[in-house]
Amino acid sequence: MTTSPAEQGDTPHGTVHGTLYDIAVLGAGPAGLSAAVAAAAQGSRTVLIDGGTRPGGQYWRHRDGDDGALHHGWSQFRRLREELAAHHLLDHRPGHSIWHVERTDEGFTTHTTRTGHTTRDDIPRTLRSRTVIIATGAYDRQLPFPGWTVPGVFTAGAVQALLKGQGVLAGKRIAVAGTGPFLLPVAAGLAEAGATVVGVFEAGLPIAFGRHPVATLRNLPKLAEGAGYLRTLRRHRVPWRTRTAVIAAHGTDTVTGATVARLDDRWRIVPGSTRTIDCDTIAVGYGFTPQTEIPLQLGCEMRRDADGSLVARVDSRQRSTVDGVYVAGEACGVGGAQLAVLEGELAGLHAAYATNGSPVDRRRLARLLRQRSVQRSFAAAMHQAYPVPDGWQTWLDEDTTVCRCEEVTAGTVRRAVRDLGATDPRAVKLYARPGMGLCQGRVCGYATSCLVARANNRQPTAEDLRGLAARPIAQPLTLGILAAGFDDNGA
Ligand SMILES: Cc1cc2nc3c(=O)[nH]c(=O)nc-3n(C[C@H](O)[C@H](O)[C@H](O)COP(=O)(O)OP(=O)(O)OC[C@H]3O[C@@H](n4cnc5c(N)ncnc54)[C@H](O)[C@@H]3O)c2cc1C
Repeated sequence: MTTSPAEQGDTPHGTVHGTLYDIAVLGAGPAGLSAAVAAAAQGSRTVLIDGGTRPGGQYWRHRDGDDGALHHGWSQFRRLREELAAHHLLDHRPGHSIWHVERTDEGFTTHTTRTGHTTRDDIPRTLRSRTVIIATGAYDRQLPFPGWTVPGVFTAGAVQALLKGQGVLAGKRIAVAGTGPFLLPVAAGLAEAGATVVGVFEAGLPIAFGRHPVATLRNLPKLAEGAGYLRTLRRHRVPWRTRTAVIAAHGTDTVTGATVARLDDRWRIVPGSTRTIDCDTIAVGYGFTPQTEIPLQLGCEMRRDADGSLVARVDSRQRSTVDGVYVAGEACGVGGAQLAVLEGELAGLHAAYATNGSPVDRRRLARLLRQRSVQRSFAAAMHQAYPVPDGWQTWLDEDTTVCRCEEVTAGTVRRAVRDLGATDPRAVKLYARPGMGLCQGRVCGYATSCLVARANNRQPTAEDLRGLAARPIAQPLTLGILAAGFDDNGA
């Protein structure tokens, strides 16, 4: 296994030599790890690229010397990590941020830069491959609300990443809010680590799982996991409130409290139900937003999934609509780590077959397809149990910030529709600048699309979401770094 960024196969930007891999796996989370290990075991020369310093992605995010105490499925991760380290056909490139992937005559060129480097010393690196497996995962989906820009309001994932990745508690008195099963491990982890979790405010009504008894009962381990988190919360006397949301954060330099309200089934505030709570930190997450820059760069067909996210369309072999491009894990639909592992394995096996013709055991394929179908039906039930109805838009004042980078308010977005006649988010972006800043709409894209759609009296579409999700550069990059890769002739 190679781990140095400058070893063979890792060529400076602008040059054309170096190893031509059979498969480049983009992202080393559950999906990417599983894909890379499966592909190499089938005899494909494979490179696994990730911006992080350690494999594992969001689910198995860990520190050096971590014994897995905070993790589920740790033995599975250990096995994949050992195989990653041992296989002679598998190169691991941690610390490589992928900023662009392009099609070439021989397959694909993946352009990377060293994560966190911003000087000319960091020459961008390119990796060549015949096929790519995109496994770039997802990040927290945010909804704006009054005060969400006050320091001390975090994404739920960031609070968990601080704890899992650095062993740091984001605050002392923490409110956990949003929707989805992910809030439970976040709150349980914080409580176990010594924070006072003042409440878990779940905007949805999880008993809606009851409408999907088959999908739910076929996933008993997940139910058991959820029950375990609830037991932990009870042990720490953490209140868990459903149909309730944090609708405002208070404070200027730091969070000093929050307003909590009961919601109706469309997430409008129940009159007379608001109250103020005392907290110094708020961890918020309303599901996940898949990272789709790379499938969009490559021209893959996209669709709007049941949770409202933009995802890459794949077939039963995890193939996208572009030849040689496979997608696995959250980038083709949010469904949890187990589904990501299964999709990764399928993508790895099929991509290996496509590049070297190595046959796959039929019984293994049949088992993977069966398990994937079980996990997908659970994911579908989960999306129906935790919808995000558009009543959250009624929590916003006209001057609530929607795009933090460009400081665009909800009122400005609505006026672009009402007064300037914008009918889609791209037009609003041009008129009012949401999504034009440093994050390029990563944070505000979903909310802006929903606000624009509603102001036009319709539901958001895949095209709306794409308008703020397509980015020719997937990761921030300085012009200096870019220029360092070109010779004097600009070649
Ligand atoms: C913040 C967060 C916390 C979560 N915590 C839990 C939890 O506690 N329990 C639970 O059951 N589920 C949790 N989930 C969901 C779970 O992590 C996912 O279901 C699972 O990790 C999906 O696996 P994946 O391989 O598709 O993506 P990920 O695990 O997200 O892995 C994607 C990988 O791609 C890399 N990557 C992405 N873009 C680039 C790029 N441009 N350049 C280089 N590398 C890139 C990332 O660094 C990452 O390592 C969490 C999700 C998030 C976003």
